[in-house]
Amino acid sequence: MKHGFMSFFTVRQQALFENFYMVHLDGAIFQALILVYLLEDNTMKKNNIQNQSFIYKGKSLKIFAAGVMLSTALWGMDSEASAESRGLTVVHHVYAGEEYVGIVTDPDELTAWAEKKEEELEEEASGDVRHNLKLIPEHVFNPQTEDQQLVDQAKDAAAFVTDAYELKLGEHTVAHVESEEAAKEAIRQLKLTAVSEEELDRFEKEDLSKELEPGDSRVTDIQVKGIGDQEETQVSPDNLVKPEEAVKKLLAGTTVGIDHEVAEGETKEDILEQYGMDEETFEELNPDAEELSEGVLIRAEEKVPGAEVQVKKESRVAETIEFEQEVKEDGEMLKGETRVEQEGQKGEKVYTELITEVNGEQSAKSTEDEEVTKEAKNHIVLEGTKEIPSKGTGSLQWPADGGYISSHQGPRWGDHHKGIDIASPDSLTISNVDNGVVVSAGLEGDYGNKVVIDHNNGMRTIYAHLSEIHVQPGQTVGKGESLGLMGTTGFSTGIHLHFEVYVNGELKNPMDYLDY
Ligand SMILES: [Zn+2]
Repeated sequence: MKHGFMSFFTVRQQALFENFYMVHLDGAIFQALILVYLLEDNTMKKNNIQNQSFIYKGKSLKIFAAGVMLSTALWGMDSEASAESRGLTVVHHVYAGEEYVGIVTDPDELTAWAEKKEEELEEEASGDVRHNLKLIPEHVFNPQTEDQQLVDQAKDAAAFVTDAYELKLGEHTVAHVESEEAAKEAIRQLKLTAVSEEELDRFEKEDLSKELEPGDSRVTDIQVKGIGDQEETQVSPDNLVKPEEAVKKLLAGTTVGIDHEVAEGETKEDILEQYGMDEETFEELNPDAEELSEGVLIRAEEKVPGAEVQVKKESRVAETIEFEQEVKEDGEMLKGETRVEQEGQKGEKVYTELITEVNGEQSAKSTEDEEVTKEAKNHIVLEGTKEIPSKGTGSLQWPADGGYISSHQGPRWGDHHKGIDIASPDSLTISNVDNGVVVSAGLEGDYGNKVVIDHNNGMRTIYAHLSEIHVQPGQTVGKGESLGLMGTTGFSTGIHLHFEVYVNGELKNPMDYLDY
């Protein structure tokens, strides 16, 4: 029992107690030992109490209380009578942390208050709450203590702490959470401000060497920058925040107070610029600042930037390759003539897009591993370059797009029909029958819109009743080129082409020349 009790004490104090224990065996050396004890106690007050005293730290106050009882019991058993007979009483020196509060004779009220307060705070916080009150017993003669006043002072001075994890920006603590788990949760939530839960889960589970399919994307890296290590510490339960609150503080950044010693020639403006402070803040921090001179200490505030969540993402993208338009000259084809040699065809390529985001904002973008899965084909158009001959060949092609002869040359309605009429074509386009040059093109009486072509071989052809004319006088037109559209302008009873042929000024029957 004695040794169980002694184990709470330092070796030196154990020795002291052993001596105390011997007091009742040898009452003669008691006075001397008390003296030793008091000297020890004074030394302890001066030195670091925590390191060498047999006081009761934190949660062990209850054990301490037990110890005091035991101590009292020992005294009661062995020497209380003799101690009391000498006028000795146990008093308790009260400390709140390192702060010495005073002496109390009966610590029960203080002890009970501290324990109750611990329990109350434990209901709010999730972990153990401990107070920082310490009691150091001493035997004195005729103590004069003001217990109530001392207890009130001790309550004011007492602090309560609980285990916590601190979250830091660089080396500056910005928030405390209740556990290592809560600190991890805060970091996870910080990441979730930049990626979705699904992306984060996939990032943590998926093997990144697995190839992406086109259309798929994933997160390849998440780094939280600007934060320090999470470390275990103790704080007042009031200082604990939830992980989500810690995230806000980590993102917001903080300001740190700094003592700045004014350098030679340094102005207020220099200091404001150095710390990015405004003048108002400077005045608030240094209400009594007079003229700045070398060596003067100034309060400054330095901004610590908030945490940055850097996310790298990759996407496998499939993209259409548009085809090019290509024009090739063709000397075999007449000028103005075109032909599609190859229809354009769209191709397809896939590539990996790499995007870096900082707090959700894109900061870099690049592509890699491009692969063409289908080549595009140019749209190739042949354009004729051959000069259009203005001299006819003598053989005339059919001037309409199909159709039939609705009226031949010869006598008609008491008159002479000078040409042939062609009606009901497949389209309304009128084609030049042979190479030549436009002599005239325009409205002319009963002919309506009329075009006259000279084939420069003694032959002329006439096209009448057109609804639209597409050529101009003087223009060279090749065989088969469009002259305009079939219509019913002038003296006409319906949509048709009236066509005449002259050779050396003499009217001929078109049927003798047409390739029909
Ligand atoms: Zn006619």
